[in-house]
Amino acid sequence: MHETKKFGDLELSKKVFNAISDMGFEEPSPIQTQAIPLLMAGDDVIGQAQTGTGKTAAFGIPIMEKLNPKVRNVQAIVVTPTRELAIQVAEELTKIGKYRDVRSLAIYGGTSIDRQILALKRGVHIVVGTPGRVLDHLRRKTLKLDNVRFAVLDEADEMLDMGFIEDIETILKETPTEKQTLLFSATMPEEIQRLARRYLRNPKILSVSRDELTVPQIEQVFYEVKEHNKLDGLCRVLDSSNVKLAIIFCRTKRGVDELVAGLEARGYEAEGLHGDLTQAQRNKVMKKFREGRVEILVATDVAARGLDIENVSHVINYDIPQDPESYVHRIGRTGRAGKSGMAISFIIPREYRQLRLIEKMLNSRIKRCPLPTFEDVFERQREVIIERLAATIQSGKLGNYRSIIEEMANDYETVELAAAALKVAFDIQGSEEKSEEVETEFSNTGAEPGMVRLFMNVGRVDEVKPQDLVRTIAEEAGIPGKLIGAIKIYDKFTFVEVPREAAEKVLYTMHRNTIKGKRVHVEPAKVRSR
Ligand code: ADP
Ligand code: MG
Repeated sequence: MHETKKFGDLELSKKVFNAISDMGFEEPSPIQTQAIPLLMAGDDVIGQAQTGTGKTAAFGIPIMEKLNPKVRNVQAIVVTPTRELAIQVAEELTKIGKYRDVRSLAIYGGTSIDRQILALKRGVHIVVGTPGRVLDHLRRKTLKLDNVRFAVLDEADEMLDMGFIEDIETILKETPTEKQTLLFSATMPEEIQRLARRYLRNPKILSVSRDELTVPQIEQVFYEVKEHNKLDGLCRVLDSSNVKLAIIFCRTKRGVDELVAGLEARGYEAEGLHGDLTQAQRNKVMKKFREGRVEILVATDVAARGLDIENVSHVINYDIPQDPESYVHRIGRTGRAGKSGMAISFIIPREYRQLRLIEKMLNSRIKRCPLPTFEDVFERQREVIIERLAATIQSGKLGNYRSIIEEMANDYETVELAAAALKVAFDIQGSEEKSEEVETEFSNTGAEPGMVRLFMNVGRVDEVKPQDLVRTIAEEAGIPGKLIGAIKIYDKFTFVEVPREAAEKVLYTMHRNTIKGKRVHVEPAKVRSR
């Protein structure tokens, strides 16, 4: 069914083929396989595909084949929602066109327009820009679209969300009617479809199906945390994993700032990325992160969407995304181009229903993991400590510290002294922490030890049978049916025992869910004192 095509089958010119080989592409991605022949044949194309599916080359390759590098005028315009994307797309196009001497330029707001005007004057073949800045140049007549043969709307739904639809229409009206128009979008809301109907001629519609949408190399796990110990949970995960570069997602700008502050207060180096930063600040942050000078980037969805950063080892959903599609967008930031990656989500109990929606869309379960213990953290830190100690001894500069130990060595064992010194120096978080079981709403439900008894307001009158309960709970909460304990069905209500570890998940996925068509209310059972 999946016929794998090679770039060789796509009848590319030697110059473009070699450029792609230099970029390390081995075979075309599904959207490229579908789009390139159509675009070469002169069709308009609508491509529905998520981030990370290789859309840039899908339009970049045919454009590169078809435009005439000998004439220095703008033959293709690509409109993107953000400055980062404009830069990224222009860079990718430059690579694809390097043997054809095609010049691509990114134009975007927030930086000097004069330099862009100069660059435009020198002559470019492809302009990649954000809507506002493109319009700006059109008004100043520093950009002319009379010779445009390709117009590309990249991440069109994103531009819609940002309120750019009218700007895009204005830009399209400045281009000749005789041209190819391409529209890429992850989703196809009505406004985008309307835009397509107005500006595309008999477009061929392509979509990359769902199973090609998830990034298969990524391991996906989640941790259940309480709102108040989320940050501790995150720190433990960071401390016990081998993070190269991590992007941490928060729901809001404020969330980003707070988390960056929280991490910094705990000695982590992190940078935030969100819409309130100036362009210069954003560039600085991105550069630092790309070069690995800071390992942790904390961002909002909008700020990070579409960004292509290599070697991101971890994507962390500190806040669970509000819709399942953003989840896919987010985790697409790691495991790129065949590299392995890890996606971690933090779930507070009342978010289990959202998690379930994501799982339904992915059509697979996300594995629940217990938070790393102090031992796990220590295991990882041990390597770090040993390395640092060895390096410090090697440097030989122990001067005054040595005299302290020499003095104290009369009264204490050297090993004890050294251990105490380590403790003072590293003071690993949580090392003294005892995992006390706090009293919760699950502490006293009258269940067997290790179990929690839940109350549900459905019963015999609703024709509910034990197997219905087992099946629904197992399916919705994703726990094996055999873990479900005693079930007692009365006329109008039911008690079900579930393992303590699964109780929150069952409670929050089942509450307000339906059993046998009836909406249920679920809560921990209460034991009446007699
Ligand atoms: P999208 O626009 O769909 O989000 P991009 O065009 O930014 O995706 O591509 C994502 C990453 O995958 C980029 O680093 C790109 O260079 C790389 N890539 C694109 N096509 C291929 C391919 N055929 N083989 C390997 N890597 C590719
Ligand atoms: Mg893209």
